[in-house]
Parts: sequence; structure tokens; C-alpha cells
Amino acid sequence: MIVGRYFFANSARFVPARASVDDKRILKITGEDGGSLAEAPLRQVKITPRLADLPRKLMLPDGACFETLDNDGVDELIGIARHLVSGGWMDRLERSWRAIVVSIILASAAVGAFVVWGIPALAFQLAMKTPDWMAAAVSDQTMTVLDSHYIQATEISEADQAKAMRIFEQVAKTGACAPHVCRLLFRSRLGANAFALPDGRIVMTDAMWQMAKPEELAGVFAHEMAHVRLAHGLQRVYEASLVPALIVVVTGDISQIGQMAVILPGVLVQSAYSREFETEADRSALTTLRKLGINPAVMAGLLERMDRERCGDRPCGGSWLGDHPDTAFRAALYRSGR
Ligand SMILES: [Zn+2]
Repeated sequence: MIVGRYFFANSARFVPARASVDDKRILKITGEDGGSLAEAPLRQVKITPRLADLPRKLMLPDGACFETLDNDGVDELIGIARHLVSGGWMDRLERSWRAIVVSIILASAAVGAFVVWGIPALAFQLAMKTPDWMAAAVSDQTMTVLDSHYIQATEISEADQAKAMRIFEQVAKTGACAPHVCRLLFRSRLGANAFALPDGRIVMTDAMWQMAKPEELAGVFAHEMAHVRLAHGLQRVYEASLVPALIVVVTGDISQIGQMAVILPGVLVQSAYSREFETEADRSALTTLRKLGINPAVMAGLLERMDRERCGDRPCGGSWLGDHPDTAFRAALYRSGR
């Protein structure tokens, strides 16, 4: 016996009713008082398929309809009327298809959220807790790779090196970087470039020295010191090699550092920091330049000169100031002073 509502043929009028099937497979609808409302052979009754918890309808040949929420009861009727069994597999397909779609969406969202927020957040935490010896070990390996594949000894005179050192020290003294942490190294090749290693070594190429005026150089150093202070290099390494990095931190197994150091040379050479890191370093450089009494707008001039040198009048990315934030954006940042 199934409880539901009986809708009269071609009418919105309904009454509470019950449905049952007798042993001749006749569907019988009775009212609450037990009086007969309708009868029809079950094979002539159309039964809507099971879809989640939607009400089921038993459509009678004369246009009347019995509606119920008792899905199991209806399934039992269908079992009796074997020719209508198809509703069962439709329902199973419908349910499993939905379950698959829902689980794919949930799994993708979880992975996406971890990649977008989880990994950077974890990388930041790890970078802030990285012991000095580990930053030094990663930097040593990175420097070895850079020296053997990408850069060469400097050709800048000692007198010029001393001049650059003085600017570097002035910048560091503003608080941009502890003087015992940040050190300036000179190398050639890679065009006009400068980059920072996690332990505070900052490499400047000969071409950068030749291209940048002293005030601009202060800005370049301030920017690189910000990368050191904010541990951008380490964060980048952790983002790209979270698994070996975790092994080092958790187990102290330093053989994994080799794996991590594989990543950094490429990042530094291509200036492949995220736009966020570059902007953060630019804002920090801006503050440092002000402390030195230098108008930050000088940096916009350097950026634009570097662009012109490399790409003529076409706008281009790359080189020292990275592929990510385009030159126009960064120049505007320095000019706005904010
Ligand atoms: Zn940078």
C-alpha cells in the first residue's frame, strides 16, 4: 500500500489516496474512506523514473494521476510490472553520474585551493623558519651552478667595485638588510642583471654597473635586499620543491638540498619571481630610496632604458626586472611613489 495523492483526470483537484496492486496486476487507487477512485492494469500505467527525492507519478490511461513520495513503494510496484524495470537503471545511472561529477568538482577545488593558497602559505612559513645553515647550503649550490653555466668573473676595476660597495653599504644601513647578511658579488654576462641568493649574497653583472647611475643602483640594491629580507628566493624554491624541502626540514636529511638547489639558478637567471614578489620588492625599494633622499622615480628611468636597450621601441619583459610585471606597470609604481 502506497500513500499519496490522487489527481482527477484533467484537473488540479486531488484527494489523499492509497495505491496497491492486486494479484492480477491491477493498480487500484482508493480514497481514505476505502472507496475506489480508479483502477487500471499496471502495464497501462506510466511510471516516472526515480530522480533523487522528486515525487513519483503513476499516470493512468484516462489522464488521472497518482503522486507519491514513497519511492521504494513505487519501485516495488515496478518490480511487479516487469516491463517498466528500466526506471531502476536510469536512476542508478543518474545517481552515479551526479556522484562522479560532484566528486570531480570537489577534488579539483581542493587541489586548486591547495595550489593557490596552501602551497604559497606553506612556502612562506617554511621560508621564515629556514635555518641560516640551510639558506647558505642552497645558496652555495646555486652559486656553483650559476658560476659553471651562466656567469663569469667580473671585469670591473677594483676602484669601481669599491664605489659600488659603498652604495651597497649605504643602502643596507637604512635597514634594508643587516650588513653582515647582505654581501655584494660581481660577475659578468647575463646582460644588465642583478639577483639575490637566499643567504644574502647579491650578484650584480658588469652590464648593470655600466648601465645604472649611482642613484638607480641604490634602487636595484634595495630591491634585491628586499628579496633577501622577505625570503622570496626560499619561498620560490619551496613552492617548486615542497616535498624535498619538507624532508630536509622534518628529517634533516641534507642530501635533499641538491634537489632544491636545482630550481633556484633557473629562477634567478630568468627573473622568474611572481609579480607579487616583484611588487613587494619594488615597494620596499621605494621606501628605502626615500630614506636615502633619492626620488624613487629614477627607477622608472632605469627600467625604461633597459627595455629600450633590449627591445628597441617595442615593449618587452625579461632581464633584471623580470618577465612578470611589465615595465610600464613597475615604472608607474616608482613614479607614483606609492
Ligand atoms: Zn626582483
